[in-house]
Formats: sequence, C-alpha cells, structure tokens
Amino acid sequence: MIRPRNEHTIAAPCEVRGRGYWGGREVHVNFSPAPPGSGIRFVRSDLPGRPACDVSAAAVIPGSLRTGLCQGAASFAMIEHVMAALYGLQVDNCVVEVDGEELPGLDGSSGPFVDALRSVGMVLQGAARQRLIIDRTIRVEENGGFIEASPAPDGHPVFEYHLDYGDASPIKRQCYRGALSPHTFAREVALARTFVTAEQVVALRAQGVGGHVTHRDLLVFDRDGLVDNELRFLNECARHKTLDLIGDLAVTGFDLIGHFESHRGGHRLNGLMASRLMELAGCGSKKTSIGLGRYGGIPGDDDSNDRGSGETELAVAKVPWGHVACSING
Ligand SMILES: [Zn+2]
Repeated sequence: MIRPRNEHTIAAPCEVRGRGYWGGREVHVNFSPAPPGSGIRFVRSDLPGRPACDVSAAAVIPGSLRTGLCQGAASFAMIEHVMAALYGLQVDNCVVEVDGEELPGLDGSSGPFVDALRSVGMVLQGAARQRLIIDRTIRVEENGGFIEASPAPDGHPVFEYHLDYGDASPIKRQCYRGALSPHTFAREVALARTFVTAEQVVALRAQGVGGHVTHRDLLVFDRDGLVDNELRFLNECARHKTLDLIGDLAVTGFDLIGHFESHRGGHRLNGLMASRLMELAGCGSKKTSIGLGRYGGIPGDDDSNDRGSGETELAVAKVPWGHVACSING
C-alpha cells in the first residue's frame, strides 16, 4: 500500500500561454502557490471582481469533447489537461488564474503544463493529503462504455484505458495500463495528445470552431490514418484517454487509491464516476499537520522522499461503498 503523504503546492508562480482550440483566443494561465487544504481554485482574472471556482465534482460540466467548470460567473472550458497535470505531479493546492474562459490547447497534451509546474518545484505542506481507498468494485456505464473502479492490486493506483472504435475506424484498437506516480505520469501519460477524426474537424469547423487549429496542433485521423503528424507512442490515443480520465477524476480532490479501468469511456462517463466517488466517499475529517519540507522537481515513485517530519498513522472513516482514509499526526 502506498503510504500517506502530505499535501504539496508549487514553490513559486509559473505561467503557460496559448490559444484555445475552440475560440482561438490567446489566454494566459498563471499558477500560484496556495495554502494547505485549499485545493485547486480557478480564477477568471479577466472579469470584474475576479470570480473564482473551487474545483469540485459538483462544479464540473462534462461535455462530449471536453470538461468545463462553472460557479456563478466563473466558468472555464477544457480544464482536464490542466487538472491531469496538477494531479499527476501531486500539486494539491494551487490557484489557477486564467484571463479567458477556455484553457489553451497547446499541443493537445498536458506536457506544457507539466513543464511549467516542474520548472518551479514544489513545497511539502503541513497538512495530510486526503485519500479515497477503493475497497470494492464500483461501475458506471453509458452507451456501451463503462468505467470500473476496484481495489488497487498492490495498493498502488492503476489507470487503464481500452480504446475500441470498431474495425472501420482509422484509430486502431489499443490500450494503456500504468501504475500512477509523478514519474510515470510525466513519462508515460502527460505527453499523449488529444485526437479527432477528419469528420469531427469538418463538423467543428462548420460550427465556426477550431479554424486556426492545424494538423500539427493535435492528432487528426482520416480514413487512411494519421494526417501530417507522427505519433509519440504507438498507443498515444489510449494514453491520452487515460490522461483525460485522470484529469476528470482529479476533481474529487482525493488521492485515488484504486484500479480505474475504462472501456470506451469519455468525459461524460468520467464525470459520472467522479460524482459516484464523491457520493460514496462522504467527507473524511482532516485532523492534522505534519512537518514542512521543500524540494525541487517532482516527488519520487515510492513517495519515500515525500513525507513530513512527524510519524503518521491512518484513520479510516468507513462509508457504505468505499472509505476515506486520512493520515493524522502521530
Ligand atoms: Zn484530452
């Protein structure tokens, strides 16, 4: 079983800028450190009063092609690649200021966000990160796809995606399965780019969307295969769907300790699973504070460098279908 850990924030502000895929507007995304226990907060820096939205499953608006977030006037589109980067690197507390609604598409992956966050390093904070430990199988399904959450095989979180668009699709059947840690996320998942079919491109452009996006800005497949681009991984599409799954489940605000297996799932199904996890988890009480440390880069695979100075023990609050585990100060 992976050990409890303390929360992290970034050690200094950092920035990413780029154009949104849909609207094409240039936006700036500023990441700033945030106090322990505050979670991820998105702020619309371009609007009067700078309205904010604390990330939660309740504020999420899952769409067919991307995930949004809304709380009053603070609305955001395509948050999943940012959320995956933050979750994958274990940046638990962070303010994300955006001077527009739509997050930048960049190269279609989480890579540029990961690079920015890693460039400033992280701070270990004086609060225990809450964990949701899956202790039985939970399943959500829709339109022939499903996601199952089940106990982690050896106590380490595992994310798995099975892609199958049928024999006629230019995107071949493929899958990805990986034990998630900051290192494996950065190495195996973060660089996988989003993808569309040529038919989707035509449909989106007919709606006046994405006219500025080229075949080099993401992966486009026509009936003959990938158009004017090269794959970073043979199963890059399955890895990207895993990235989306991680980003969409990150809105729960927990470290998810389980085996998450998606078959043909998308943002809507991811959103259903996130809501289900929140319903089943209830809310554990956070009781603690343990040491404070600082280091650059990203935490290690085995989290051995990732604990405070105090001893911890695990308090478990049982709920009907899963349980929330909170580490408390010894
Ligand atoms: Zn995506």
